[in-house]
Amino acid sequence: MVAKTTKTTEQIIQSVRGMNDILPDQIAIWQFVERSLAQVVETYGYQEIRFPIVEHTELFRRTVGETTDVVEKEMYTFEDRSGDSLSLRPEGTASCVRAGIEHGLFYNQTQRWWYTGPIFRHDRPQKGRYRQFHQFGVEAFGFLGPDIDAEMILMTNRLWKTFGLDPHLKLYLNSLGSTETRAAYRKKLFEYFSKHQKALDADSQRRLHTNPMRILDSKNPYMEDLIERAPKLIESLDSESQAHFDALRRLLEQAGLSYEINPRLVRGLDYYSHTVFEWVPKMDEGAQSTVCGGGRYNPLVAQMGGPDTPAVGFALGMERLIQLLDELHLLPKLETEPHVYFVLAGEEAEQKGLLLAEHWRDALPQLRLISNCGGGSLKTQFKRADKSGAQLAFILAPDELQKNYITVKFLRGEKVEEQQQQKIAFDQVIEFLKNL
Ligand code: ATP
Ligand code: MG
Repeated sequence: MVAKTTKTTEQIIQSVRGMNDILPDQIAIWQFVERSLAQVVETYGYQEIRFPIVEHTELFRRTVGETTDVVEKEMYTFEDRSGDSLSLRPEGTASCVRAGIEHGLFYNQTQRWWYTGPIFRHDRPQKGRYRQFHQFGVEAFGFLGPDIDAEMILMTNRLWKTFGLDPHLKLYLNSLGSTETRAAYRKKLFEYFSKHQKALDADSQRRLHTNPMRILDSKNPYMEDLIERAPKLIESLDSESQAHFDALRRLLEQAGLSYEINPRLVRGLDYYSHTVFEWVPKMDEGAQSTVCGGGRYNPLVAQMGGPDTPAVGFALGMERLIQLLDELHLLPKLETEPHVYFVLAGEEAEQKGLLLAEHWRDALPQLRLISNCGGGSLKTQFKRADKSGAQLAFILAPDELQKNYITVKFLRGEKVEEQQQQKIAFDQVIEFLKNL
């Protein structure tokens, strides 16, 4: 006899805080959403790229930026066994840029890429904010004009449309101008906030010296007024940036897409220039609600040692998107249940059943059939059949074996009421399944 162990909760290892399992009963939704997104962007000519989950820490320091929240506070950084400093990816753009430069993909050519997968940030876990979450992202390299900015924003809108989500989201737009414009603006902002230093919280006091633009991004309600009155970058754009922004606005307006200019929208990462945008739910503009954010980052590829390559991209948070679709009842009912549960009575039926099932699968690749494995009485097997959610039970027992037929029992749908059972000859089963 095996002694009973008394397990205390301390002994049971749980997942890391803020890192969640996606269980089999949720997976159909995830697959549906991922596939829908990929399908749309592929029709625009975007191709999937897969890059490692771990990169040299230096990559993120140099792209995302030393003084950003992501690098300062949120990165999972560790030393590997060779003593190299590595980090779990806190976003995808840096890796796309690295991969493109490493493989020489930015010389005299344009690229349109999409990616999806886990992203890691040591955020404070709460609804809509996790430490491992998933992004779906898109990047386009080698396009300078506002046409691609417009196309990309329209493409995000088409993503929302595929789910019926477009009426529920609001588009915010801003321009961060060129590097020179930003440098001048930073000075102005520094002067402004320096004059009001006492009104700044501790975080913003620190940012005043490292990255004053990040103060605009503060979610502290006590600083709302002060931020509202701060000088606005959008009012001091250089003429080239202004022309790019005006052209983008015209294109969006021609396409009938409404947006709101948000001068406070600076985005959390250092590499952005010119266009930045975010999609936020209309019903809840809370701190955890932004579904999608992106923008232009023209200087980054050259800054990382590649050829001068203008670039633009966005990333959306899968958890927030799925959560929102769920709250708005926009997720479809997906059919994942088996068509057939195959009840097998006795050893001989188990052997024959395996062969029959393989034969049916050859003819009907879409057939979802679960064969009973692990024996059990008829009663037990019927219980399993019921639990599986299958529409039909196929029964193979000694009489069926002897006379080459299976018994079909309807478990769901109209025919259940009539307690219908049918006998179907082995060589008629495929036809029967086809006509269901
Ligand atoms: P936030 O201001 O909410 O922290 P962010 O600006 O840090 O967002 P981005 O770097 O723009 O986020 O990432 C793109 C998208 O990824 C976000 O719009 C959001 O949907 C999602 N996202 C970001 N951080 C998290 C997180 N910790 N948990 C879940 N989703 C996240
Ligand atoms: Mg963040």
